[in-house]
Amino acid sequence: MKVPILANPTNSVRARSESSVRWQVQLKNAVRTGQQLVELLGLQDAITPSHQAAADFPVFVTREFLSRIRPGDPNDPLLRQVFPAASETAAVEGFGSDPLQEASFTRCGGLIHKYAGRVLLVTTGACAIHCRYCFRRHFPYSDIPHSIDQWQPALDEIAADESIEEVLLSGGDPLMLADPVLERLIDALQSIPHLRRLRIHSRLPIVLPSRVNDALVGMLTASRLTVWMVVHSNHANELDEAVGQGLGRLIDRGIPVLNQAVLLRGVNDDLDALTDLCRRLIDLRVTPYYLHKLDQVAGAAHFDVSKERGCELIEGLRTRLPGYAVPRFVIEQPDQPSKTTIV
Ligand SMILES: *Cc1c(COP(=O)(O)O)cnc(C)c1O
Ligand code: SF4
Repeated sequence: MKVPILANPTNSVRARSESSVRWQVQLKNAVRTGQQLVELLGLQDAITPSHQAAADFPVFVTREFLSRIRPGDPNDPLLRQVFPAASETAAVEGFGSDPLQEASFTRCGGLIHKYAGRVLLVTTGACAIHCRYCFRRHFPYSDIPHSIDQWQPALDEIAADESIEEVLLSGGDPLMLADPVLERLIDALQSIPHLRRLRIHSRLPIVLPSRVNDALVGMLTASRLTVWMVVHSNHANELDEAVGQGLGRLIDRGIPVLNQAVLLRGVNDDLDALTDLCRRLIDLRVTPYYLHKLDQVAGAAHFDVSKERGCELIEGLRTRLPGYAVPRFVIEQPDQPSKTTIV
């Protein structure tokens, strides 16, 4: 039987408890046009969405994320991350469609093996938010598996390589997979004896905190694999009460949570914004892991911040916060055996 990756909520609602699929219902209510964003935030006179930008990469914003954007403020740091701006359509030298040359590291359907001991599995192209700076915005998602059977070649590759001890579920966003699909994937992975850890890279705990429900936490803690969660938040305003509770549910049950952020012009490229982000994270027991230099993806050049400025900000953080609150400022270079720390 083929299992659709995104189980249709109206079908699965009957079989599963209300709370375990609430997130899927909420997802259906997401905002999907720039015009809607403008109207809901009272910005008709202030900004105009670009049709071309939205055609290149559609708008998608959960109501939960929307509720954290300040109405009437065209420069809101959360709005900037999701608003389709005309600046995206400018062609800029050095910004291409596969900045990390992932195509050359892809072993088979969705499996990317670049670093020792760990592989990245692109599980789905779907996300609960479309970040305008996303480095996978041009990723050929139609090439990746769309049912559990199609992951078999990737699973076989992992099983055949005993040097692999950790699998990263990435995307898109792996928590967009419905629980039954995720469960089957985790089952298949944990039956590979040499695997020790499962890492889940997801923005859903931030943009749709109801995804972190008891069913999910139960599934993750039931695995024989050690599970780590890496979330993605760029600004303290993203981390409201509901997000804090969801992250707390993971951490209380023994799942460590790390955060990665992207350094983005007009979002978090000032010392106060970054300090607030890191302080809020450690208050929630989340470790700031990486601060990424923007990958040079076409359409995102207006978010770029220089390495020098990034280093200055990290130095600033060091003078203000405990050592464990300061993320590593990194850049991904296609030909390196790990992410490169910028100093
Ligand atoms: C970033 C990345 C990883 C994980 O790297 P860590 O430094 O372990 O967080 C693994 N595989 C790929 C392809 C990556 O891009
Ligand atoms: S959630 Fe991650 S993968 Fe999805 S659009 Fe945002 S940055 Fe890209």
